Amino acid sequence: MAVPKRKTSRSKRDSRRAQHKVKLVNLSECPQCHQPKLPHCVCPNCGYYKGREVIEVE
Ligand SMILES: [Zn+2]
Repeated sequence: MAVPKRKTSRSKRDSRRAQHKVKLVNLSECPQCHQPKLPHCVCPNCGYYKGREVIEVE
């Protein structure tokens, strides 16, 4: 198995870990109830997707 020749410097290690932050989820507005929802997903608030009711929400 290949082994690294040199110890990774603190700078290199830390700059790599600088990208480990959690990404924000992007939300889109539901055209039916105007609540934020995940894009390409059925709205959890009203159950609508593509202009029709897909799942029933009480
Ligand atoms: Zn909705």
